[in-house]
Amino acid sequence: MEFAAVVVAGGGGTRAGAGPAKQYRLIQGEPVLRQSLRLFTEHRDIGAVQAVIRHEDVEDYERASSGLLKCLPAVPGGATRQASVLAGLESLARSAPRFVLVHDAARPFADATLVSRAIAAVRSSDASVPVIPVSDTIKQIDGTGKILATVERSALRAVQTPQVFAFDKLLAAHRRASAENRHDFTDDAALMEWAGTPVTTFEGSNRNAKLTTPEDFERANAYAAQRLGDVRTGMGYDVHAFVEGDHVTLGGVKIPYHKKLSGHSDADVLLHAITDAILGSIGDGDIGHHFPPSDPKWRGADSSAFVRFAVERVRARGGMIAHIDGTLICEAPKIGPHREAMRERIAAICGIEIGRVGVQATTNEGLGFLGRGEGIAAMATATVRLPWDAA
Ligand code: MG
Repeated sequence: MEFAAVVVAGGGGTRAGAGPAKQYRLIQGEPVLRQSLRLFTEHRDIGAVQAVIRHEDVEDYERASSGLLKCLPAVPGGATRQASVLAGLESLARSAPRFVLVHDAARPFADATLVSRAIAAVRSSDASVPVIPVSDTIKQIDGTGKILATVERSALRAVQTPQVFAFDKLLAAHRRASAENRHDFTDDAALMEWAGTPVTTFEGSNRNAKLTTPEDFERANAYAAQRLGDVRTGMGYDVHAFVEGDHVTLGGVKIPYHKKLSGHSDADVLLHAITDAILGSIGDGDIGHHFPPSDPKWRGADSSAFVRFAVERVRARGGMIAHIDGTLICEAPKIGPHREAMRERIAAICGIEIGRVGVQATTNEGLGFLGRGEGIAAMATATVRLPWDAA
């Protein structure tokens, strides 16, 4: 594995006010931690994501990370941020990534381009951190608050995460610091400086602020609502005919039946309709355009790959899937007993919560080809939320 990420969520976040720990608070309906995890799980170059959490947050974490591929089981953190990072690194040591990105869960507004800049930076340096210029005038004060000096700010930078390192070097520096009873490093760059590894910088992001106070959360909610305010709906329709067989695959769920659906892939008519609905929401062609039936590569293919592709196209635009709704139209087999399994499967494929997925079924009242039991049709809608500046 080339790149892995450690997401540090081991703090209590007491400055954010009463209520759940800040990393589990919702920004536009999504836990802060989930947004920070998605930053890496959705990045093509990241192979695994290791969260470090408080042991009392296990249930909150399970909810916040449900359906996110690439997330390893969380490990408990330590008494300090430094100890928590070390716990994450020790856990990742088994998969031996070449590089590791370390990110604070309370920075949910880092974006894919920032992760890409981190990845580019570490290829020419063993340690690199995102920085932004300091725009406020900085004063040095004494113990009473009296100003001693005005600091020249042109050479100052504020440091953010994700910070990126050669994995072996960071792990070695952490182990050494721990062995030498040094537990006071507030970020990994400081620890690497102490260990003698030169640390370079790359361009951070002004939006990548750390959420700390209740006011930070208010601003973050307003920003997120505005950012993903471009709401769009796409629709899809598909139909496949029955042939002799022993099961059908609908919504990613295998259902025993004395026929099967004919088609080039696994003929999952519902996942095909969903794929077209998602692609339609971003005006990005249709399933036949991206996966031509003439291409032997897709023979017998698991149709979840088509849905994942469409979801990836939405995420590449910085968007999210807000809702998927599908309707199956057939006289048989019975859909009801499999409805929840389909919802669960579709939610997992799309990487969203099950509450954002609906599955309905109806017969065609005996009318037409569907009524005669010659096949199954499916309709779907997908609602997506995009940033206003998405293409
Ligand atoms: Mg089809």
